[in-house]
Parts: sequence; structure tokens; C-alpha cells
Amino acid sequence: MAFDELSFEEAPKIVEFPGSKSKKMLQHQKKIEGSALSYPISIPIVMDEGRGATIKDVDGNIFIDFLGGAAVLSVGHCNPYVLEAVRTQQNKITHTLDFTTEIRIELIEKIREVMPGNLKDNVKIQFGGPSGADAVEMALKLAKYYTDRHVFISFEGAYHGMTAGTLSVSGGTYWKERLMPLMPEVHFVPFAYCYRCPFNRVPDTCELECASYYEHILEDPYSGIFEPAAVLIEPIQGEGGSIVPPTTYVKRIEEISREYEVPFICDEIQAGFCRTGKFFSFEHSNSTPDIMPISKALGGGFPLAGIVYREEFDVWKKAFHCGTFRGNVSAMAAGVATIDFMVEYDLASYAKKMGDYMLSELAKIGSTSRIIGDVRGSGLMIGVEIVEDKETKHPSPNLTAAIRDESLSRGIILEIGGHYDNVIRFLPPLVITKEQAEKGIAIFGEAVEKVEKSV
Ligand code: PLP
Repeated sequence: MAFDELSFEEAPKIVEFPGSKSKKMLQHQKKIEGSALSYPISIPIVMDEGRGATIKDVDGNIFIDFLGGAAVLSVGHCNPYVLEAVRTQQNKITHTLDFTTEIRIELIEKIREVMPGNLKDNVKIQFGGPSGADAVEMALKLAKYYTDRHVFISFEGAYHGMTAGTLSVSGGTYWKERLMPLMPEVHFVPFAYCYRCPFNRVPDTCELECASYYEHILEDPYSGIFEPAAVLIEPIQGEGGSIVPPTTYVKRIEEISREYEVPFICDEIQAGFCRTGKFFSFEHSNSTPDIMPISKALGGGFPLAGIVYREEFDVWKKAFHCGTFRGNVSAMAAGVATIDFMVEYDLASYAKKMGDYMLSELAKIGSTSRIIGDVRGSGLMIGVEIVEDKETKHPSPNLTAAIRDESLSRGIILEIGGHYDNVIRFLPPLVITKEQAEKGIAIFGEAVEKVEKSV
């Protein structure tokens, strides 16, 4: 199958934006649904149909989707293989708690098969509630049981979810300032965010001072930090702004953790399952996690989450992590079909190829723009950092939002992330075609030019 067959051919196509039907529905939703809504506030469209890397709204506008359901839709919207597998499952049974089913066993085997290196035959999988946050909660819990400790080390810029435990290990203070105290004794160390290095160093000569700082707090008895239950890292940060550290950095964090016997958790919820050009993002640094939360793309558009961990970590007992929806069978059928599709079409290599192409095109736009400070990414996890000017690097959330809005009105869906809400994030379905990427980036370039002229 050629990937262009998966999408709406005409994308992008703007008939009327914002369309009258969409406007009416958005207003109605605002009246009856709670104010914690997020996406329809920043991207005011009303989705009707999704196909591949494209979305049609209720007014007939067709968008190229560079958001990809927040990195969920890696095999594309309504992937036909996934839908067929789900329908077959739904004709048999739809809810099974964590009772044994053929599809559950098949999915566990499939996940083990795609594990790299010596993890392949040496991991167990545990499914939790259907959100990524629940998988991270599970990982934190398991690390506590394993070590009998309670301190966690996380990273500046980290995002792990919206539950109490996961907010505790996430960097953004906006989300939790009125909720404190949350989980006690979480300490944040610098991530290798080289564009804004907290030590004012540059990658070629910095000798990974940020990683050394992590070593320092473990080594120094007066650092004020007890032995951690685990260190939790996104090997490539997502919501923090698509931040790709030097590959030696993640390996160094792992080495230091091994030296001080701190379990090493890699959160692969966003970056896993081919997104960054490898099946898992820890593979870029040849690291080996002890525990790994997974979700998002795994379910092919259906909610599914769990953790993969080295067998020796299997220290918990019956029902230590339970819940009603611990691996829904429809989502599990989707998961099996999703992994099969990823393997059959070698989506990791495809993501690398398309990502390299998009990065080089975006870098061209960046080289002539005053307000693009940095273009970075790995595979199809790309970020473009918007600043007031390249010299000061002063972040500009307003210009960033203006670029997103301009792009949307021209048929391109993009979302924003980053420490200062100033990173345009590209997370398209991995089945995006070169033609769609080309058209989308050209339109993004027009949006940047228009916004830049306005200041
Ligand atoms: N971990 C990472 C790295 C994420 O990017 C996210 C969500 O964006 C989560 C955890 C939380 O997942 P969920 O939103 O499904 O709870």
C-alpha cells in the first residue's frame, strides 16, 4: 500500500475558515463542556473525518495534520488494518478486565518481539489504565516497591502527565502551582537543552556538565537528596519542546544511575514506537531502561497504556496496580495491528527519512528568518523555536501562537510546546507523504513570513 492512499487527496483545502457550522458547534461546546478544555481553544476546528495524515472538518475544510493526535496517530487516522482488527475483536468480546484472552497474550508477545537487544527475552509487560499518566504512575510505584525508597529525580522540561504523581515529576509549574504539595521529594536536574544551556556551555566543549550535575547530587552526602527510587527521563523530550540531547547525554545519565544503583526509567510514551526514527528513543543512545512506560501510538488511535520492565523488577504482588480498564481488548487488537504495520512498513526508517527531509526544509526557512531561533528534531518529532530575535533568544509565545493560527487558516494543524510556549511542534502521522510534508512546510513558511512582517 502506498501511503498517499491513506489520506484525503485534496489536502490542504480551505472552503470556509472558520466555517459557520464549526463556529456554532464550538460555541455550543463551550457552553456545556468544562473550561479545562485545551485543544479546541487553541485550534478551533470541529473534526469530522480523519484519514492518514489529513483531517476533514464539518465545513468540508481539509487539513494536513502535523499534530497527529499528540503523537498517537503514528499509523495514521483510521488506518484500515487497525480498524479491521478492532472490528474483528469487537464481534467477539469487548471488555475483559485483565482476564486472559488470545489478543492480550498476542500483544504482550508482540511488544517483547520489538524490544531491542537483550531486552527482547528479558522483559515483562503490565497494562494499566488507558492513559500514559497511569503508566508513569505504575512505573513510579514499581520503582518504590523495588528499592524501598521514595525520592525521584526528574528533569527540567519534563512532561509525564496530569495525575498527582505525574505532575510531581513534570517540570511545568503552571499546571501544579495551586495543587502543592503533591508527591514529596522530587528533584529536578537540568536536561541537555543545548539551545538554552543553563551552564552557558556549547555542546562540542561542554563535557556534559548537565549530566555531571546529576552525578554530583548523588555523590555529595550534603546535596540534601536521599538515595532515589528512580531517575525518570524522556530520552528525547516531547512537550518540553522536542528537545534532542546529545546521544552521549542519555547514556551518561544511565551510567551514573547504574553506578549509584538508581533504577533508570525511560518514558517512551510520546517518543516510542518509531516516532524518532528508531523503534524506541532510548536506542539512539544505546541505553537500556529498567522500566519503560508506553502508550500513545501503541494503540493505533485507541487508548492503551502499560509498562515494560526488566524481569528482575517483577517484585509486586497480586493487584498491586489494578483498575477496571487494564488493557481494553479492542485497543489491544489495535495494538497488535499497529505494531505489525510499523514492522511491515519499517516506519522507524521512514520516519527518519521524512524527518531528515522536513528538518532540512525547515532549517532553510530558519536561516532566512529573524524569529526562528532553533530548528531541531529526531525523526518526526520536530520543534521550531520562535524568538523575538536570534541574538537575545528572547522567547516569543505571541509570535508562536500567531504562526500556529496563520498556518491553521491555510490548512495546516500545528501545536505549541516548550518551556515558554514558544516551540512549534511537528508530530505528523508517520504515514505522511513527501508531497504532504512539502506542501505543509511551504505553508508554514508563508505563515512565518507574514507574522515576521507584522512586527
Ligand atoms: N509521558 C509523556 C512523555 C507524554 O508526552 C505524555 C503526554 O503527552 C504523558 C506521559 C501522559 O500521557 P497521557 O496524556 O495519555 O496521560
